[in-house]
Amino acid sequence: MTTEGPPIRRLADWDAATLRDLADGHGTPLYVLDQRRVRENVANLRAAFHEESISYAVKANTVRATLETIAETGIGAECASAGELQRAVDAGFDRLRYTAVNPPAGDLDHVVDLAADPPRDLDLVITVGAADAFEALAERGYDGPLAIRVNPGVGAGHHAKVTTGDAPKFGVPYDRVSELASEIVSRGFDLVGLHAHAGSGIHEASDLAAHRELVSRMGELARELDHDLDFLNVGGGLGIPYRPTDEPLDLDSVAAATREAVGELDARLGIEPGRYVVADAGVLLTTVNTVKPTPETTVVGVDAGMTTLLRPAMYDAYHEIRTLAPDADERESVTATVAGPICETADVLGRGRELPGPERGDVLTIGNAGAYGYEMASNYNSRPRPAVVSLDGGESRLAVERETLSELTRLEIEQ
Ligand SMILES: *Cc1c(COP(=O)(O)O)cnc(C)c1O
Repeated sequence: MTTEGPPIRRLADWDAATLRDLADGHGTPLYVLDQRRVRENVANLRAAFHEESISYAVKANTVRATLETIAETGIGAECASAGELQRAVDAGFDRLRYTAVNPPAGDLDHVVDLAADPPRDLDLVITVGAADAFEALAERGYDGPLAIRVNPGVGAGHHAKVTTGDAPKFGVPYDRVSELASEIVSRGFDLVGLHAHAGSGIHEASDLAAHRELVSRMGELARELDHDLDFLNVGGGLGIPYRPTDEPLDLDSVAAATREAVGELDARLGIEPGRYVVADAGVLLTTVNTVKPTPETTVVGVDAGMTTLLRPAMYDAYHEIRTLAPDADERESVTATVAGPICETADVLGRGRELPGPERGDVLTIGNAGAYGYEMASNYNSRPRPAVVSLDGGESRLAVERETLSELTRLEIEQ
């Protein structure tokens, strides 16, 4: 078992020389993922949530090297698609939760096949968020364990785009859950759990209060059902401090508050963090292409953009940026807008940043990029996706190759 680490790894804690060497060796833009930190994060979660069952929400980072590291720790995998489920199985996870959000028919076919003919002993539960999804599974002859995703009517998170708990898209309306539960049980299916997820990036006091409200409503619902459950899963969403001045969550107190809010319960409590496991284990390295003084700011053009790291453009997310230039201390600081190479106004990684006078060729590092970074990379503007390097102790290995220009068109058929 891995030892626990500090509550957060700050961008300043990364060794500049190591990162510079990786940028030299592999080129940029480059994601770097430290597997040792991933293990520490799992150990930290385990120390706080020792009574709960923990699953990693794989959508935060599905790079094989990362999934294997997490699978080896023995926690479960929470998957949102057939593709994620397949990757989790291939990486060695044995405890799998598939949370079907408006599941396409092809996904259900794949999952039902996997349940009927698993490559090894798997503990697989399918969570349905609509009566319709249950019917679609029944039609396919699925007879394994089921859970119901509940819309608790309470949401939380760092941005409206990631607040799920009160969005009608997600889960069975709270008041209709017991009816669906009775239907599932009376038709001979094995209903083993309830599930809800408030949203992502729960960090502020108001988010934590909303999360406790969700947990307490779920506890009530579980007690009201006249059916015994194995588990009550209260979702993921644990936030991390993106700004250097933000404090990390106190996991022990979040865990204690969660236990208290759920109340008396026979079922096991479950959580499924994604971001918390991988965010501070990853950085993005990028090279300065152009430096342009303007009347408003100095625009620092870099080779990573919204197609490499979408969060700033999509969620107005803040990611700390630091220069790796060895002589940074001797440079005069400027206020900079760090912008990518994509032809979109939104393609900015950071505004109003104080940086030691950037120069063409400098390598910058962008912090907390391990979650929803590589995972959301795209080919917009015909930009090849970046490479990913996996660090473990002193060793580094290429985990995902850099996409090439010719690979951009590999699926196209000449007419
Ligand atoms: C995205 C998601 C998670 C993980 O969210 P994080 O903010 O990364 O912890 C957990 N559960 C469900 C159902 C999700 O959709």
